[in-house]
Amino acid sequence: MGGLLAAAALSKTFRSVLVLERDILPATATARKCVPQARHVHALLASGQAAMDDLLPGFVDQLLELGAIAGDALGDIRWVVDGHRLAGGISGVPGILASRDLIEWHVRQRVQALPNVRILDRSDVTGLIADGNAVTGVSVQHRSGGPPTEVVPADFVVDSSGRSSQSLAWLGRLGFTPPRESQLAVDVTYATRHFRLDASRLDGDSGIGMAPGPSSPRSGFMGIQEDGNWIVTLAGYGDDVPPLDPDGFLDFARSFPTPDIYDALATAQPLGDGVRYRIPTTIRHHYSADDLPSNYVPFADAICSFNPIYGQGMSVAAVEATILRNCLQSTTNLPRQFLREANRCIDAAWNLTVDNDLRLPAVPGRRSVRVRFANAYASRLDRAAAVDPVVGSAFLRVTHLLDRPRKLLRPSTVLRVLLADRPGTH
Ligand SMILES: Cc1cc2nc3c(=O)[nH]c(=O)nc-3n(C[C@H](O)[C@H](O)[C@H](O)COP(=O)(O)OP(=O)(O)OC[C@H]3O[C@@H](n4cnc5c(N)ncnc54)[C@H](O)[C@@H]3O)c2cc1C
Repeated sequence: MGGLLAAAALSKTFRSVLVLERDILPATATARKCVPQARHVHALLASGQAAMDDLLPGFVDQLLELGAIAGDALGDIRWVVDGHRLAGGISGVPGILASRDLIEWHVRQRVQALPNVRILDRSDVTGLIADGNAVTGVSVQHRSGGPPTEVVPADFVVDSSGRSSQSLAWLGRLGFTPPRESQLAVDVTYATRHFRLDASRLDGDSGIGMAPGPSSPRSGFMGIQEDGNWIVTLAGYGDDVPPLDPDGFLDFARSFPTPDIYDALATAQPLGDGVRYRIPTTIRHHYSADDLPSNYVPFADAICSFNPIYGQGMSVAAVEATILRNCLQSTTNLPRQFLREANRCIDAAWNLTVDNDLRLPAVPGRRSVRVRFANAYASRLDRAAAVDPVVGSAFLRVTHLLDRPRKLLRPSTVLRVLLADRPGTH
């Protein structure tokens, strides 16, 4: 996903852009082997929708034509945050429901249609070729005919090979110092199943989300997909692993503080088998331009891989792609400028999720004064959003990465939180 979006950005400046992908890319919107996470719920945040539309004009309208479901992120999706059901209302934050397979396929179709972009699958990048402080190309192993190995020359290289990126090893071999790393041992396990169900059980809502907090650390999301069936992903921290078998899956859903997901699933028909995914840690590499070749940038999950329950990865990748495009048009020291601006977006997303994860006793880590303050306020905000949709909308604008978290500390919002969360209102 990041590689395709980066290619769209690079195509504005470079004569020719080549995307090298190790997987076999399907011709239709179906699963592929090297992105096993695609079998789980993939939220596309409002910030990601806007960035994709900016890079690929008309993208969102076309996604809707392909069957994605549009709605309001508060008005059409029922949210329960740490046990508090958010007051309904129109937030103005666009929510889109579609499978990761469809979103990625649509991005790929659009990028493939760009006249100066070529996508080559079954092609495994095995290392970097450099001359002094600059990369001159990459070595590639092909499995699709032609020469089995070759060096592909390049004026500029973006590493968007995901969480398991080999950039650290490749750059180390070229003599570059490895970056500092932040990690949080979240130990989250996902379990996902698909269902056919009577949508009238949801009173017209197209999704239900259970977001975790200290009094209710389990999370889950169910949403309608482009084929009319429903995807349900449940998640637990540490030893709290959601079962995959139909009865155990339903029991986990029954344990949520409100019965919304359980009630919707009670008479639903399970489709196929369930799948699991475990995320032991979230990882952020603090790359510095001083320790990178002058024409090389890491990108998306290769820089930072978030806790997926907050649904940020694709959207951060899309925002990074708009930053990359803008930097290419205006700067000579590209890695420095790109990392500076990308880090602003990554900071906001990373702090939001790390702070929330540190509310949960199961997640190990130091709770600084800032984190404790932020989390005490978050608990009041969750309660306030249960009675005041304006607070809920402000919260969703932040979680969709449209506004910075500090906006929740504006006097007008703080006042609403204090008024809504006074004794006797719950
Ligand atoms: C369980 C789970 C759920 C998630 N849910 C969400 C969500 O709700 N919303 C959201 O926005 N994000 C979600 N994410 C994150 C999201 O999947 C990623 O952030 C997003 O895909 C961007 O990642 P990327 O492009 O860097 O890597 P990926 O999408 O993982 O792509 C990396 C690509 O690089 C290829 N590759 C790897 N090494 C090589 C090599 N050496 N040579 C050639 N090709 C190579 C791989 O085959 C793959 O196609 C989730 C992640 C997980 C694990």
